Amino acid sequence: MKTREEYIESLKKLNLEVYLLGEKVEDPTEHPIIKPSMNSVAMTYELAQQPEYEDLMTVTSSLNGEKINRFTHLHQSTDDLVKKVKMQRLLGQKTASCFQRCVGLDAANAVFSTTYECDEAHGTHYHENFKKYWDRIQREDLVVDGAMTDTKGDRALSPSQQADPDMYLRVVERREDGIVVRGAKAHQTGIINSHEVIVMPTIALRPEDKDYAVAFALPADAKGIFMIYGRQSCDTRKLEPNADIDVGNKNFGGHEALMIFDDVFVPNELIFMNGETDFAGMLVERFASYHRQSYGGCKVGVGDVLIGATALAADYNGVPKASHIKDKIIEMNHLNESLYSCGIACSCEGCATKAGNYYVDTLLANVCKQNVTRMPYEITRLAEDIAGGLMVTMPSQQDFDNEKLKPYIEKYLKGTDDVPTEDRMRILRLIENITLGTAAVGYRTESMHGAGSPQAQRIMIGRQANVAHKKELAKEIAGINKKK
Ligand code: SF4
Ligand code: FE
Repeated sequence: MKTREEYIESLKKLNLEVYLLGEKVEDPTEHPIIKPSMNSVAMTYELAQQPEYEDLMTVTSSLNGEKINRFTHLHQSTDDLVKKVKMQRLLGQKTASCFQRCVGLDAANAVFSTTYECDEAHGTHYHENFKKYWDRIQREDLVVDGAMTDTKGDRALSPSQQADPDMYLRVVERREDGIVVRGAKAHQTGIINSHEVIVMPTIALRPEDKDYAVAFALPADAKGIFMIYGRQSCDTRKLEPNADIDVGNKNFGGHEALMIFDDVFVPNELIFMNGETDFAGMLVERFASYHRQSYGGCKVGVGDVLIGATALAADYNGVPKASHIKDKIIEMNHLNESLYSCGIACSCEGCATKAGNYYVDTLLANVCKQNVTRMPYEITRLAEDIAGGLMVTMPSQQDFDNEKLKPYIEKYLKGTDDVPTEDRMRILRLIENITLGTAAVGYRTESMHGAGSPQAQRIMIGRQANVAHKKELAKEIAGINKKK
């Protein structure tokens, strides 16, 4: 396994083509806007080295018997699924942001089982390709991104019906030694901190969409790939001199980027699907369900930090004993633990796939994510309620550092007498960061749309809930259709 330092060194060796604020980034690992997100991923390496977290963060590989980071593991039991969620909560607590490494983990587990069943049906050899590939990822302890979301153009049209055929990533050329692909993947979490990427289709496909049924892996710096960094609310605060208080979370963050595949060659051995439209739906559904489970861990960990920050804000305001404040903090915890319960439940109810790795309970994973589209918003509302308006009207750090202004800010923005004004400012900025700032990308809008927008879960819940069986139960109890 790599140390934090070895991870960062290995990123420096990549030749990523990244653009941010209109300019090419020379060294993403040193860019002040990107660096906090790298620190979040680095935490997945750091914690794996700490004896206290060994059981949660590391595991024995099912592919090669070596000790590996759990972020590269193919789940072998429901216990592994539960530990995944606990690990994500821990990382959320340590970073208060998206730590990005789960996407590749979820992609790997989905591709592992889907390729097995695709080979069984079509006589293809994708599963072996994938096993060989993933064995290397585990041994080298790499970060792999999962690229699913196409840009989608006109949502009413299928991929092959689009005015521009590149709105979904597709195969543009089939060669003896591989394929050439073109398209873009949107909202790519953590791609600039990743060594590799696994690309998958974004929706279930029909036979006429054959060129879009494609899954493969590539190094993130493969020829023809480039990224345009996604802007985040308040991101340029990180560029201000001595940026600290105003960024809210100085050391950690997440990122997304638009990833362009400009006629990129993929060699045969890295292809995991090539035209098998009947397996696109399975791959999408499995990846989505794993990632919907993931949110029952990571968002809960961030929620823990937000609840802590809110309770501190109440302390600093001198109102920790007010009954409505106590009740609101209880409600925040109730909502947060409800999310966690869903993450744990869909893990405990998981089962083995034909390929042997473990898969979550689809219905409960979708219920988990559906709750994630709502509860962090309510937690956020309560945090803002308790924090008060100062979190968005406070003077800047530069004002606080100004000799003339500092005594006035210290005097008038003080809460309880025993707490320095600076501490109060820091905690309010942290709440602002999670609810409105850079981390809100992960805690709010991503809670809505990440791993599929709310309607996608409702469709799955509708399919999985077995209402017919429930009708039978009701009939039985009500004595309907009973033979006399
Ligand atoms: Fe992991 Fe959560 Fe970020 Fe997805 S949003 S990559 S599950 S931390
Ligand atoms: Fe996500």
